[in-house]
Amino acid sequence: MKALQIFQKLGYDLFVVTNQSGVGRGYFSLESVYVIHRQLQNDLRMNKLNPFKDFAICPHSPDENCHCRKPSGQMIQELVTKYHIDPKHSYMLGDKIGDAESGKNAGINGIMVRNDEKSEYPYYKTLLDFAHYLNSKP
Ligand SMILES: [Zn+2]
Repeated sequence: MKALQIFQKLGYDLFVVTNQSGVGRGYFSLESVYVIHRQLQNDLRMNKLNPFKDFAICPHSPDENCHCRKPSGQMIQELVTKYHIDPKHSYMLGDKIGDAESGKNAGINGIMVRNDEKSEYPYYKTLLDFAHYLNSKP
C-alpha cells in the first residue's frame, strides 16, 4: 500500500493489466475476476488512496491466440491511447518477464519486481524499492 501511496503522491495514475487465462480455461468466471477487482478498489479507498483508474483483462487461454495476452503490448497500448498517457514516463511493473515485455511492446518502460529471472529489464526487489527510486529521481 505504501508503494501505491508514493506513486499517487508523485502524480501517477495506476492501472491493472492482467492475464486471466483461468477464465478461458474454464477454471473461474470473468465475474469472479471483477469481484476481486472491486475488492482491490475497496482496499485502496479504505487506505485513502485513489482507486485504480482502469483494469485491462485478457480472459483468453494461450491456445486461443488472442492479440491481448501479455507479452503483447495491446492492452497497455489501448490504455495509453484511451487516457492520453505519456509512454516515456510510464512504467509496467511485473513479476514475470512477459509483463516487462508487454510494457516494452507498448512503448513504455518495463520493470521487474520480485523475480530472479535474469533479464534486460531494470530489477527491483519490491514495489516499495521502485517507489523510493522514483521518489528520489530528480
Ligand atoms: Zn486475450
